[in-house]
Amino acid sequence: MGRALVTGAAGFLGSHLCDRLLKDGWDVVGIDNLYTGMSRNLAHLSNEKRFRFIRHDVTKPFNPGYIERIYNLACPASPPHYQKDPLFTLDTNYLGVKNLLELAAKHGARMLQASTSEVYGDPAVHPQKETYWGNVNSFGIRSCYDEGKRVAETLMLEYHRNRNVNIRVIRIFNTYGPRMDPNDGRVVSNFIVQALRNEPLTVYGSGRQTRSICYVDDLIEGMVRMMENPGFIGPVNLGNPTEMTVLDIAKKIKRLLRSHAPIECKPLPKDDPTKRKPD
Ligand code: NAD
Ligand code: UDP
Repeated sequence: MGRALVTGAAGFLGSHLCDRLLKDGWDVVGIDNLYTGMSRNLAHLSNEKRFRFIRHDVTKPFNPGYIERIYNLACPASPPHYQKDPLFTLDTNYLGVKNLLELAAKHGARMLQASTSEVYGDPAVHPQKETYWGNVNSFGIRSCYDEGKRVAETLMLEYHRNRNVNIRVIRIFNTYGPRMDPNDGRVVSNFIVQALRNEPLTVYGSGRQTRSICYVDDLIEGMVRMMENPGFIGPVNLGNPTEMTVLDIAKKIKRLLRSHAPIECKPLPKDDPTKRKPD
């Protein structure tokens, strides 16, 4: 095995990916500016000789030395986080991805982009196939993320076509598991933290909107298999096809935690997708 670069390494998915690549025998360089990620997610690797962490913002060019694989996970992923500084979110998805593609071209590295089900927006086709072009509002509060991730896919494709970079694109659907930031704002972590504290579970809107939630280990398995497949560049959906309403997710978490916390309805955020399920 050679040397792999993981950006967003101190985040939820990135830290699990570093563990997996080290286990598979790769030397791993982890990059993160700690915008939403936390050093404690990588603390268990502090004595690992095959792992090196560099604190860096991918919107600024850098060169970590020779690399064979680039997994680009750098980007705030939770709506409250990516909406906090929308220009930073846009820069991360354009300048950041471009810097990494330049690195890939320089070293002849294969690069995988963590894209998202958000490229389908509020989908008019259900379940979502990769051939569906989506229904995205370019002028709303989620646009910095949705359009940022869309242009990132286009950058990947054009570096592949024009500069011969070997690319892989995955569209990740909602994923959950250990090391999600308890203050992250996403649905599973919010409900678990609220249920444990015996506080009301905050269901936005009617709770009839759906998501299909995938466990982190399954997602990482798919990510690595996609990177190592010999020639299919994607894009490919990665997620769990079992669709649930947000209200069902709240009830299930309450049941599993034997919690008597009430469910409280809060206003639905603007442009919140009504349904989502990977084909
Ligand atoms: P996360 O917020 O836990 O991790 C993202 C990491 O990227 C953080 O550690 C953050 O500090 C870092 N980062 C952000 N901007 C950066 C920059 N400019 N330079 C360097 N580091 C930067 O989120 P996550 O859930 O682990 O998501 C990882 C990737 O997967 C993201 O690209 C996200 O868009 C994508 N994704 C995740 C999900 C999901 O359900 N978890 C779904 C779809 C797509
Ligand atoms: N949601 C909710 N309560 C919360 C957090 C989220 O009802 O405390 C809803 C949110 O409105 C959306 C779904 O859960 O319909 C998934 O939200 P999340 O932010 O986890 O991810 P998204 O798929 O919207 O990016």
